[in-house]
Amino acid sequence: MRGDPGATTVLRPATPRQALDALRREPRALPLAGGTDLMVSWNAGLLGGRTVVDLSRLRSWAAIRSGRESVVVGALATHAALQESAVVRREFPLLVAACATIGAVQIQNRGTIGGNIANASPAGDTFPALAVYEPLIQAVSASGRRLIAFSEIFAGVKKTTLCPGELIESLELPFLRPKPSRQLFRKVGTRAAQAISKTVAAGLLWLDKKGTVAELRFALGSVAPTVRRLSAAERFLAGKRLDADSIAEACRLLEKDISPIDDIRSTRHYRLEVSKNLLRQFLEGR
Ligand SMILES: Cc1cc2nc3c(=O)[nH]c(=O)nc-3n(C[C@H](O)[C@H](O)[C@H](O)COP(=O)(O)OP(=O)(O)OC[C@H]3O[C@@H](n4cnc5c(N)ncnc54)[C@H](O)[C@@H]3O)c2cc1C
Repeated sequence: MRGDPGATTVLRPATPRQALDALRREPRALPLAGGTDLMVSWNAGLLGGRTVVDLSRLRSWAAIRSGRESVVVGALATHAALQESAVVRREFPLLVAACATIGAVQIQNRGTIGGNIANASPAGDTFPALAVYEPLIQAVSASGRRLIAFSEIFAGVKKTTLCPGELIESLELPFLRPKPSRQLFRKVGTRAAQAISKTVAAGLLWLDKKGTVAELRFALGSVAPTVRRLSAAERFLAGKRLDADSIAEACRLLEKDISPIDDIRSTRHYRLEVSKNLLRQFLEGR
């Protein structure tokens, strides 16, 4: 819906220091990365005259750097850059798969991982993959820096735990060693492109030599105000064999961690059943 965008002051800092100083002077200013969320709000007249701090000149924040035990992804890395990165493709295929489902090519070329997180939509498609990869988020402000566990970044629908004037600089994703025995990414939407998720899932499973569960990580998006790990099911299955009974119990326990709603895109019932089906099929190895 169009509104009156009004006049907006746009600052274009050339360095991170200048960006952080601008935000210190004006903590209500809005950072702009790719603009794919922010420009929709601007077009709808929802920015209320707030100053915009355009981050696009901070080129170092777009880098993807591989280390010995982790990769550091700059907040300004686009969904397209993540799909093209050899190390991300090799080590974090669920994140690559998630980025490939965001909007369509135009949005993937502009939209950034930092913007996706900071926007904090319940339907953010990278979140289940990030929830199972457990990155640390490097946040910076004029007064210093801090690390935030991904599990601590969301405070609710469209709300993060970032403080005013604080930016996401990067995410550090630790390599998974050993590599998981099984993995899954699945977005369920109305179309293959330009669809907001009804449910979006990511899973990692490590089986030991006897075939029992060493570790399960499973996360769902679009089924609660923020992305959810299935903690109850994960704890229940640790050390168990995957058989019909244990899988049925895990699917029952899934309801403890999610709270889907009826909305314009889907119903509570559909989201719950699809979520259970995704978990069951993953655990059955189908
Ligand atoms: C047509 C269309 C289709 C879309 N499809 C999908 C989809 O399928 N799945 C999906 O998950 N999303 C989708 N989106 C939403 C959007 O594209 C993504 O959330 C994208 O990753 C946002 O990144 P951006 O760089 O464009 O963010 P921006 O619009 O620049 O910013 C988004 C928010 O984050 C803040 N911000 C940006 N960078 C930082 C930072 N480094 N630190 C702190 N705050 C920051 C901004 O102030 C703003 O509040 C779609 C959007 C459109 C318009």
